[in-house]
Amino acid sequence: AAVYRLIMVGSGGVGKSALTLQYMYDEFVVDYEPTKADSYRKAVMLDGEEVQIDILDTAGQENYAGLFALNNYANNSDDCILAIRDTYIRSGEGFLLVFDVTDSESFSDLNELYEQILRVKNGGTNIPAILVGNKIDLAERRKVTLEEAEQKARSWSIRYIETSAKTKHNVDKVFCELMRIVRPF
Ligand code: GDP
Ligand code: MG
Repeated sequence: AAVYRLIMVGSGGVGKSALTLQYMYDEFVVDYEPTKADSYRKAVMLDGEEVQIDILDTAGQENYAGLFALNNYANNSDDCILAIRDTYIRSGEGFLLVFDVTDSESFSDLNELYEQILRVKNGGTNIPAILVGNKIDLAERRKVTLEEAEQKARSWSIRYIETSAKTKHNVDKVFCELMRIVRPF
């Protein structure tokens, strides 16, 4: 079966793990270890075809920087973080760029990640990705508007989809849509 390698990126706390676990196991996890990165695999149907989805849930790369420095991987921790990210970005075919709609900083943090993915993926003009505004169940605490998010997505030539890992709103949809973007033909 075809294999799709997808990567969750975004600041800590935006809900990368909650979205992944909701998609994988149909449950909302409130207290998943924030520094834990893990990968998940399952067989799913995509438009009538059985495919395999591989999801890399990234987390707290900063914490590994010291370890890599010890191994002379790079000379300072900023280089380390970038080098580690380069490695996992290279392994990914599609990206969910996740922010929390109640946290403006998580929205602007994506700019740097986007630039890095663009650079690693050969400096093309667009990347196989979806911009994901998570936690839309917290409407009353919302800080990033639909218009701002749609504008950023347009400037990156990608789609914008709003989700809630808590209610499962659009969770299956973001993963399926990303596989359709990555699918070769
Ligand atoms: P990560 O660091 O990006 O992996 O974020 P987590 O998945 O660990 O989520 C951080 C916190 O936000 C946890 O307490 C989650 O339960 C909570 N959370 C994640 N997604 C949602 C959501 O859609 N709605 C609400 N209300 N909380 C969420
Ligand atoms: Mg996490």
